[in-house]
Amino acid sequence: MEFAELSTAVTAVRAKKISAAELAQEYLARARERGAEIGAFISLNDKAVDKARQIDHLIAKGQDPGPLAGACLGIKDLLCTDGLRTTAGSRMLEKFVPPYSATVVARLESAGAVTIGKTNLDEFAMGSSNEQSAFGPCRNPWDSTRVAGGSSGGSAAAVAAELVMAAIGTDTGGSIRQPAAFCGVVGVKPTYGRVSRYGIIAFASSLDQAGPMTKSVRDSALLLEVICGQDALDTTSSAQNVPRFVQQLKPQTRGLKVGLLKEYLSGGVDAAITKALERATAELRSRGAEIVEVSVPLTAMAVPIYYLVATSEASSNLSRYDGVRYGSRADFAEKPPEDLAEFYSRSRGQGFGPEVKRRIMLGTYALSSGYYDAYFRKACQVRRLLHDQFVAAFQSCDVILGPVTPTTAFKIGANIKDPLQMYLSDIFTTATNLAGLPGMSVPAGFDDQGLPVGLQVMAGHFQEQTMLNVGAALEEIFGQSGSPGRG
Ligand code: GLN
Repeated sequence: MEFAELSTAVTAVRAKKISAAELAQEYLARARERGAEIGAFISLNDKAVDKARQIDHLIAKGQDPGPLAGACLGIKDLLCTDGLRTTAGSRMLEKFVPPYSATVVARLESAGAVTIGKTNLDEFAMGSSNEQSAFGPCRNPWDSTRVAGGSSGGSAAAVAAELVMAAIGTDTGGSIRQPAAFCGVVGVKPTYGRVSRYGIIAFASSLDQAGPMTKSVRDSALLLEVICGQDALDTTSSAQNVPRFVQQLKPQTRGLKVGLLKEYLSGGVDAAITKALERATAELRSRGAEIVEVSVPLTAMAVPIYYLVATSEASSNLSRYDGVRYGSRADFAEKPPEDLAEFYSRSRGQGFGPEVKRRIMLGTYALSSGYYDAYFRKACQVRRLLHDQFVAAFQSCDVILGPVTPTTAFKIGANIKDPLQMYLSDIFTTATNLAGLPGMSVPAGFDDQGLPVGLQVMAGHFQEQTMLNVGAALEEIFGQSGSPGRG
């Protein structure tokens, strides 16, 4: 029962070559065993096989089971799943069982997909290594002494290790693309507004987007077709028409203008990543693409802008976890609180981990009267200019090609004591979120330690099709990364 890609498994289920129930059983077993070794999941879905049986039933009756029939998926534990615990990687929500599903999940499931489990993540999606999860780190399946990346580390690792056929992650500043690069899978962050945020636990609402993490570019296109599109439950979701991504998917190079961002070429990147970028550029050129240099000077400011905007929005979004309306309440049996302030501070103090607290403090500071103009407002202004510079850059190219991360997967523990160093691993990914642009990570071989390398393709607003088509060309050049231990 070997399916390298979700697309092939779905075709087999629809053609009755294999039952969805058998597949769900197999993947659930893998998730239970290997998943526990690497820490890829926070909860497994014990109703997965029942759901798969319903799909088989539809097929037996001759009804259309949907484009994702029998697809076994991992869902980042930041998306609400009706009746299935959703923790956001936090003690604060350790016992939260949502009474409804996120629109993304509802759409996937009504297209025939089966949720195998909820994948591990940094608490409230704040982190770049999955070490900030209250449920323990997720290890990189290629080398268990290294991080899987973050915050969607569990999703990336589960796909790489073939514990699910594909997964959903969220990306606020790189959390789909960075772990995808570290684990050798494809990860797509759509244009802001493409995908409904309804039912996704909010981190920074003006930046958050959900997207697919898959073995192949085709699988990402397939999932995007299902999850994209306007949703009455999210007023920021866009009415833009959703293209037939799969039908129009073709490795595209001829006549294409590929931009190289001057600011991303100034060094400080692992040699293997630079080499992959050079190879990609040469191959794309030999296949008829024109390579042009573009400049977005304010990308140099992306990390500081991001860590002001994201923390400010987070401090506001997370104020709801007060132990009364939302979130766990401290145990007051032995020592009751003296007043409401103590009630809050003990509940929040126990519920949140150190990185979340750091960000709430940073964000509260940046929003506070007296500092608002100097920090939050200024960051919003520069963000707008960064957006405008990107829009201008996309006047002279169709896509921008660059690195996803400065390094390949680092060792567990290497950056944990140095938040600034950790934040710098987002140096190439945060700009796209700030500008609302789509970006994807595509596997581009391995470094000399056998760790996956990823390359990033960015495109103009709502130009996912072009981005996917360039992704498909890169996939042709580098091949898929395979799976650790499976080859
Ligand atoms: N690593 C970034 C952060 O810690 C991005 C997180 C994300 O995209 N969710 O904020």
